[in-house]
Amino acid sequence: MTTAARATDTGEVDLVVVGAGFAGMYQLHRARSLGLRTIVYEAGDGVGGTWYWNRYPGARCDVDSVEYSYSFSEELEQEWSWSERYATQPEILRYAEHVADRFDLRRDIRFATRVTAAHFDDANGRWTIRTDAGDEVRARFVVLATGCLSSTNTPDLPGLATFAGTTVHTGNWPAGGVDLAGKRVGIIGTGSSAIQAIPVIAAQAAHLTVFQRTPQYSLPAGNRPLDPAEVAEIKADYPGFRVRNRAMNGAHSARYGRPAKGLWADTAEARDAEFRFRWARGGVQFLSAYDNLLIDAGANEVAAEFVRDQIRATVADPEVAERLLPDTVIGCKRICIDDGYFAAYNRPNVTLVDLRQDPLETITAAGVVAGGVEHPLDVLVLATGFDAMTGTVLRIDLRGRAGARLADAWAAGPRTYLGLGVPGFPNLFFVTGPGSPSVLTNMIMAIEQHVDWISDCLAYLDAHGVTQIEATEAAVESWVDHVNAVAGATLFPSCNSWYLGANIPGKKRVFMPLLGFPPYVERCDEVAASGYTGFALT
Ligand code: FAD
Ligand code: NAP
Repeated sequence: MTTAARATDTGEVDLVVVGAGFAGMYQLHRARSLGLRTIVYEAGDGVGGTWYWNRYPGARCDVDSVEYSYSFSEELEQEWSWSERYATQPEILRYAEHVADRFDLRRDIRFATRVTAAHFDDANGRWTIRTDAGDEVRARFVVLATGCLSSTNTPDLPGLATFAGTTVHTGNWPAGGVDLAGKRVGIIGTGSSAIQAIPVIAAQAAHLTVFQRTPQYSLPAGNRPLDPAEVAEIKADYPGFRVRNRAMNGAHSARYGRPAKGLWADTAEARDAEFRFRWARGGVQFLSAYDNLLIDAGANEVAAEFVRDQIRATVADPEVAERLLPDTVIGCKRICIDDGYFAAYNRPNVTLVDLRQDPLETITAAGVVAGGVEHPLDVLVLATGFDAMTGTVLRIDLRGRAGARLADAWAAGPRTYLGLGVPGFPNLFFVTGPGSPSVLTNMIMAIEQHVDWISDCLAYLDAHGVTQIEATEAAVESWVDHVNAVAGATLFPSCNSWYLGANIPGKKRVFMPLLGFPPYVERCDEVAASGYTGFALT
């Protein structure tokens, strides 16, 4: 779709929102209800964010659809029906489009428009926002709804530009699709995106070569069509269903239960039975079996070995199985779920190249050379992930008081208060910013909590004649310490995950999200109830 030419924006609005994924869409809806003149800028041609860009074969959510959806409108909850336990990317995109139409959001969204700069003017307390379409508007407030996983990471692989075939990134997959039928396809990466794509591509391509650097743990998704009776039961009390899920930590789901004990409290037989039950049911809740799996390395190793045993049992060739066995802490990198990932290696048209044994040397016009062998390819898929959590905001020329740059303020890693605000950048809010639970939760739930908090805050400021709100340095100092202390008490910092920025060469190694959704929400509510402790209001 090409967007028709439009007049550029000038003048002043109350609020500029950057991004029209689930965060930006809901922020627009809430801002309108407050009577704020709002413009949303979105780089893509349509709404949906993640689900607009990630159109690779096999893309789905990994949180149950009935949970991975908005809760702010009971009518919306009742009228929308998901078809499968985990909806596909096209279905989630249709949902986002339905929401945009139902709440008439598009008229305030400028599509195909990237915000390039946002500068704060100390003299008049306004932000000036500039876009690549020539817009220049002033706004009292800015909300960055730019997404945690929205800037793709294309590694600096030698010879990449010389490849004569088609190169495509999972996070920027063409809307028209890529014809893989009968082609020799290579895929670099074995994270969540690759693990979803590999079985589907293997079924289409003449041959698929997987270039693996680090083996990943993956659990069966247990996808299935949704039972209408199950859906009816949820819809009979959707508000209660949401309340129960919000009370769970991270990606735990109320329906699947909260871990009630540590692994060592069970006998070896009972542990095995518990893991088997969760393996058969499918989903990330495998890691909710015990409450010490991400704290106690010994307990974690028991769960990890259970998964390795399943890989050994699934992959027919023991040498291939051995190369697929992960050796890190399970759950330390975002756990993957799949539909036939390990079994795909039993297909005669799938080859695994272990880059640890056979390092990637170069990419040529004809294919990928690893360990001295050239693998000829027609299509090269980069499933190499994202510059997560900070990459997208740092691509904007963001300048706060006295022209200070966010890039400088975050040179040693992101520093926020509650993941919502940064000192020196008044009236600027992050949705699911670093320092908030964000990617360690069902993200739509975290998005709604942030957008509600920001919207209530904007209403409070106007009601109390406050023109500026800004996180204090002291509040940020202690918040950053808190985020680090919480992560430091777990096994999360033990591997090279994108949570730590370790997937991007040169990126400061800092654990960016905060563990623990319910205590975080309590803290945000206390801050608001106390008149925004930790923020300076003027
Ligand atoms: P996004 O959806 O990323 O939207 C941000 C938007 O901002 C994008 O459209 C982007 O184009 C736009 N933007 C960024 N910068 C600019 C700029 N400068 N100017 C203009 N526009 C800009 N989370 C879950 O909880 N469960 C899941 O199952 C799940 N599955 C996922 C699967 C994939 C393949 C990926 C990549 C992520 C997944 N996530 C999942 C995380 C997912 O990103 C969030 O759930 C959610 O969709 C994020 O919404 P958002 O609006 O915050 O950000
Ligand atoms: P990812 O988890 O960061 O995986 C990237 C993969 O590319 C890794 O295997 C990585 O190897 C590899 N890689 C990166 N640079 C490389 C290089 N230079 N050479 C060789 N290999 C390289 O990215 P992702 O799979 O796109 O997933 C990102 C996140 O998005 C997920 O963790 C999840 O939160 C979300 N997501 C969710 C779903 C879902 O199931 N709903 C699906 C997709 C994505 P190393 O491990 O060695 O770095």
